[in-house]
Amino acid sequence: MTVTLTNKTRRMKVYNLPHEVYCKALGKCACTFIAGQNERRICSSLTIPANDKMEGVDDAALSVPEISADVRSGHIAVDTQTRKAPASKDAHSKPGSSGQSGKATKHSTVEVTNE
Ligand SMILES: [Zn+2]
Repeated sequence: MTVTLTNKTRRMKVYNLPHEVYCKALGKCACTFIAGQNERRICSSLTIPANDKMEGVDDAALSVPEISADVRSGHIAVDTQTRKAPASKDAHSKPGSSGQSGKATKHSTVEVTNE
């Protein structure tokens, strides 16, 4: 799923998308490899200009602590445009507060495995 991230601040936001977090959540590696004597892996990054938005961002980016922190503080707005139906009327629970009844939400949590 992809999301649109809107930068609501007046400063450009630049986020690194660390391999251990982003690629794991993504399920594939999105890093850039620099060929050479010592091949280097450079994690991808996400730049959102001030008061602008970035569309088509994989929601794996929300796993990145820096980004989720800015989402929580309201600096970054998240829009999920791939949703078929509008958000259900009765579910007003905030994400993160899993005090709801029943089992744990079946969200696509990615297990971090040490390989
Ligand atoms: Zn990677």
